Amino acid sequence: MTRPGKVYLVGAGPGDPELLTLKGRRCLEEAEVVLYDHLIDQALLAHARPGAELILGGKRARDWVLDQEEINNLLVRKALEGKVVVRLKGGDPFVLGRGGEEAEALVRSGVPFEVVPGITSAIAVPAYSGIPVTHRRLASSFAVVTGHEDPTREDSRIAWDRLATAVDTLIFLMGMENLAAIARKLIEHGRSAATPVALVHRGTGPRQKTLTGTLQDIAGRAKDAGFGPPAVTIIGEVAGLREGLRWFDNRPLSGKKVLVTRSRTQAGHLSRLLAREGAEPVELPTIEIKPASDPRALDGALGRLGDFDWLVFTSTNAVEAFFERLKQTGRDARALGGAKICAIGPATAGELEGRSLVIDLVPKEFTSLGILEGLRGEEIKGRRFLLPRADIAGEELAQGLLGLGARVEEVVAYETVPAPESLERAPELLEAAQAVTFTSSSTVRGLMDLLGRDGKALAGKVVACIGPVTADTAQEMGLRVDIVAREHTIPGLVAAMSEWYEKEGS
Ligand code: SAH
Repeated sequence: MTRPGKVYLVGAGPGDPELLTLKGRRCLEEAEVVLYDHLIDQALLAHARPGAELILGGKRARDWVLDQEEINNLLVRKALEGKVVVRLKGGDPFVLGRGGEEAEALVRSGVPFEVVPGITSAIAVPAYSGIPVTHRRLASSFAVVTGHEDPTREDSRIAWDRLATAVDTLIFLMGMENLAAIARKLIEHGRSAATPVALVHRGTGPRQKTLTGTLQDIAGRAKDAGFGPPAVTIIGEVAGLREGLRWFDNRPLSGKKVLVTRSRTQAGHLSRLLAREGAEPVELPTIEIKPASDPRALDGALGRLGDFDWLVFTSTNAVEAFFERLKQTGRDARALGGAKICAIGPATAGELEGRSLVIDLVPKEFTSLGILEGLRGEEIKGRRFLLPRADIAGEELAQGLLGLGARVEEVVAYETVPAPESLERAPELLEAAQAVTFTSSSTVRGLMDLLGRDGKALAGKVVACIGPVTADTAQEMGLRVDIVAREHTIPGLVAAMSEWYEKEGS
């Protein structure tokens, strides 16, 4: 008989994919099977190894994908096949999540298991709304209660009469459908009708919404606002602290959907920084980066790198393509000889430094003109410059260097091609977004190509560009540019957007 594998009952945290424990992440990395709840952020599944079997269990809307018994059986079956299984559950697996029942099923079948606690929504969601569940002045106790049970039932397992006044902060999960009855029951058993209440919908994520009121009026307010599940209900004096302690949903880009048009492989960094400022990034890759289809010119240059006085890299793509090809042609960094190295900006410099190279020049302004400016004071006349670049790069840098008397060799290191698989999704994603980011001229052209060169869909959107060259391209294509980053980097772009929204307040 195969030795049974193991089941890890892992808490995924309340939503924000960074609220996963290190142990939870390690389990995901090791798992051969991941059985996950429908509320789980897809980003967490990216921790699973390629090829892991990912299975959705639990309830979606009103339909069960797998009911509890099927989930229990599946866990047992997969483990008995010798597999490492992660049962990934929202929040903490042992807080109103039926993790206890799953553990019992495993014990019954003799399957080894471990519990990896998670950050429960009961505490984290209030926290992201600016509500501490206890507070020295206002609350010394809290209780987490299921709101799933109809409080008017005679045989309720909740002692409403004692619960109503015994605990300072009452936190209901799954309480939206019974909200009116819950509030009535608590008032009936002596809780003040004026007690502050907060409802937090989709807490810890970019679409978090909070509604506040009192025990008396909260159900009516929720109904008027169309406030639905999933939500955490917080009842108690601490709910009144939110206005003073708000921190998450009032960040500069909170509530904004922002289109990221970079290539799939490069979108992540920008998306992460946008999310950190509160935005919900929407990735629509408008271009793809490919190695040069005809590498002969690049190969030629790579074969005599020792001849150059300067290697000038104007993007991280150029660095990657250059060194990839260097390796493919059987060479390594030793081929660089004594050439000096220039990087257009900090990201490009970082890419080079990651290859243990020391950079001789990063200009003050991260543009082609900045490079020319930065080379002032250097001996340029007669010196040989190699510019590995994109197929569609501008001529400014080469022309400028030639003008200074340099000998310039430009070689295509990579190509920027349209990303046709985005074609279908473009109109819909764009419509939902409030702002659009462009990190190069090629992303502007790429998006306009996806839109059939018709900029109408961008009317009313906030357009943010990484620098003046990109902004010029956008304007030439008929777009109104609202934001041009002062520092022409990804962090500079996000900072410029935050500043703009703080000033505009819209
Ligand atoms: N074990 C989970 C709770 C599961 S019950 C935990 O510890 O968090 C599911 C309920 O949790 C939902 O109905 C809702 O009340 C609450 N919930 C979970 N995630 C939430 C979120 N991000 N925002 C608001 N409520 C959430």
